[in-house]
Amino acid sequence: MSQYQQNGIGMTSQRTRERLVTRLRDQGISDNEVLQAIRVTPRHLFIDEALASRAYEDTALPIGYGQTISQPYIVARMTQAAIQNVKRGKVLEIGTGSGYQTAVLAQLFEEVYSVERILALQKKARQLLYELKHYNISYKYDDGHLGWEEHAPYDVIIVTAAASEIPEQLLQQLAIGGHLLIPSGQSNKQQLHHITRNEQGFESHVLDDVRFVPLLGGTVTQ
Ligand code: SAH
Repeated sequence: MSQYQQNGIGMTSQRTRERLVTRLRDQGISDNEVLQAIRVTPRHLFIDEALASRAYEDTALPIGYGQTISQPYIVARMTQAAIQNVKRGKVLEIGTGSGYQTAVLAQLFEEVYSVERILALQKKARQLLYELKHYNISYKYDDGHLGWEEHAPYDVIIVTAAASEIPEQLLQQLAIGGHLLIPSGQSNKQQLHHITRNEQGFESHVLDDVRFVPLLGGTVTQ
């Protein structure tokens, strides 16, 4: 049973969420744990109230500061790829944003480490995820290009903004057998890369053409 209270009215109703899950399944998301995490995560709480009626549409939506909450299909796609044949110990997320992907990861991994460069977004996400009783998440306010060395190696690293190049530090902080999911490229042509580390080095393949906000340098204090 879900740890979230079920709300039986309007856009937050279970039926509305179920429609999203059906849609994701039709698009090839088959992992039941991923679908269940999407089903029980109250996406309407991660966006502005004015947009809440669109929360269970399969689309990215603005969350302020020029950033967006990721599209559910992309969250599901990245998560499904990330959890194949890997220990569900530590996951590092770069780009906390609204905290939506963080909430999904918190249900699938023992420990979540999430880095965000915009302090205001981090504070908001942290508060909400605490209210939703996710206590297995640690937060860092920093430039995610650097990863989070202190807790490495990670079984999975998920980057939710597009990098111009794959950051070397993230590759180094990946465990042997671990997966790195990272969008890369310029705004009009980005691809989602799935990189696996093995004893010999790294294997990489492209999962999809995607559109993410850019992975930027430095931090923003407001
Ligand atoms: N998964 C989030 C996606 C938010 S958009 C969600 O579903 O809400 C991408 C996020 O990455 C933004 O919050 C942006 O501020 C953050 N970001 C961009 N570059 C970053 C960097 N170098 N380090 C940490 N976070 C970064």
